[in-house]
Amino acid sequence: MKITDVKPFPVWVGQRNQLLVKVETDAGISGWGESGLSGRELAVAGAVRHYREFLIGRNPMRAGALWQEMYRSQYFEGGRVLTAAISALDIALHDIKGKALKVPVYQLLGGKHRDFIPTMATTKGPLGPDMIQQAKDLLANGWICMRLSSDQMGIGKDNLFEPRESIAATAEWFIKTRASVGRKAVLGVDYHHRLSVAEAASFLQMMPSGTLDFIEEPIRDESPEAYETLRKLTPVPFAIGEEFPSKWAFLPYVEKGLTNYARVDICNVGGFTEAMKVAGWCEAHYIDLLPHNPLGPICTAASVHLGAAVPNFSWLETWKNPWDAQDRHDDARIFPVMMKFEKAHFVVPDGPGLGVEVNEAALNEPFRPWEAPHLHRRDGSYTNW
Ligand SMILES: [Mg+2]
Repeated sequence: MKITDVKPFPVWVGQRNQLLVKVETDAGISGWGESGLSGRELAVAGAVRHYREFLIGRNPMRAGALWQEMYRSQYFEGGRVLTAAISALDIALHDIKGKALKVPVYQLLGGKHRDFIPTMATTKGPLGPDMIQQAKDLLANGWICMRLSSDQMGIGKDNLFEPRESIAATAEWFIKTRASVGRKAVLGVDYHHRLSVAEAASFLQMMPSGTLDFIEEPIRDESPEAYETLRKLTPVPFAIGEEFPSKWAFLPYVEKGLTNYARVDICNVGGFTEAMKVAGWCEAHYIDLLPHNPLGPICTAASVHLGAAVPNFSWLETWKNPWDAQDRHDDARIFPVMMKFEKAHFVVPDGPGLGVEVNEAALNEPFRPWEAPHLHRRDGSYTNW
């Protein structure tokens, strides 16, 4: 079997862009992947076109070797754009291999450990009684793990973000939320790396022990040394890693105990080939995966197969919740077959490949230029989104 074409599709789906990648073969089998570098999809599509130049004619069954060739055969190895492209291609190659061998992708990774994949949902309401009610609704609908209203947290009008105002209000409502939902719920928050070390420490110290079960990315992650400092200032577990583009980025966080839940993103870290290595490394350090899954059905399917194939798994992030009747990223006209979602979990599929079908003719909503919010302080300076 040989690869005959590689096609990137940067398209608008529902409420955001998705970069899908199709790999075609001379056996009539094609595979689909997705890239996770949201907001810079055209750069990744360009990288996919570079890789297309030498992938055509290659054997798609050699995903591990092709990963090495894509990663190593350039002077400027690695980086988020290139590994986002490699991720999509590696996922598509696994889809092809599963279809060719007529097995689900998890069979290529050692077989399944579980029959369903528990998920983590996120409340949508602003800080206040609505958020507490949504946390109760999630519990009533089968979720035990949830993040509390991270998306809107602290973002004022006109993309204004003042960290001290945000953490003061957030801590107050999180204390009330824990008192309302009890100890059974696993409560986390994604601060989306908007804080400094001092601000993150102050925020976590404002709440009694046991209020939060984890904090996701309180600070930026370029510096593991900064996380070492924060580690000394709080006992709250960290959930870090959704931006990491390789096992090497995970290295200090895993080995120094700086992430307690590995937020691996299979569409950014390097696909199945790299995610399985990160998972094994985490297993050796008693760290469970809590995969990042904010994108489309292909990302979700790849994450489900990854979650099925590893022993050290906690929850998979999902957009599905009781308030979104229409999931914002799953358009059934484009994806007529997707992962099956039941009460707070995805069912591990039995069919060949990823178990997602793509109606290529429906990929007709063009890419829309989109920028993440450019957050700023009241004094006019820019800060992290
Ligand atoms: Mg996050």
